[in-house]
Amino acid sequence: MGGVVETRPKSDLDDPDDGAIARALGPHWRLKFTVLVAAALVATLLLIWLAKRGVSWYRSRKRAPQPQPQLPPPPPPPPPMCTVCLDDVEQGKECAVTLPCGHPYHRHCIARVVDNDPRCPVCRASVSPADIV
Ligand SMILES: [Zn+2]
Ligand SMILES: [Zn+2]
Repeated sequence: MGGVVETRPKSDLDDPDDGAIARALGPHWRLKFTVLVAAALVATLLLIWLAKRGVSWYRSRKRAPQPQPQLPPPPPPPPPMCTVCLDDVEQGKECAVTLPCGHPYHRHCIARVVDNDPRCPVCRASVSPADIV
């Protein structure tokens, strides 16, 4: 016979840390250790996901208050036009007159019109000679 080879527990050779973990976790330490590692993995993945989500949320939040593309400024209103001669009426000029209805004319144009028909050619509001003096 003889040749009895003393075999040491394999775990002592494989990983010396196993002993410390086993002592810390008690019986079924492998199961507990596996659960701990799995939990840590899940927690890490969750943190990564949260970080990515947080960054995208932050970016979207940062992007949100950016001003909308500037709309082109509205075109300036067309200059008032005398509908009698279809020419522009330069406001402030001696010949410019605006009827009580708000329509602009050249004084000589509207005077000629109201001689025949004392009404605004556009809206037919009555025009008194005093309005175009
Ligand atoms: Zn005119
Ligand atoms: Zn009018």
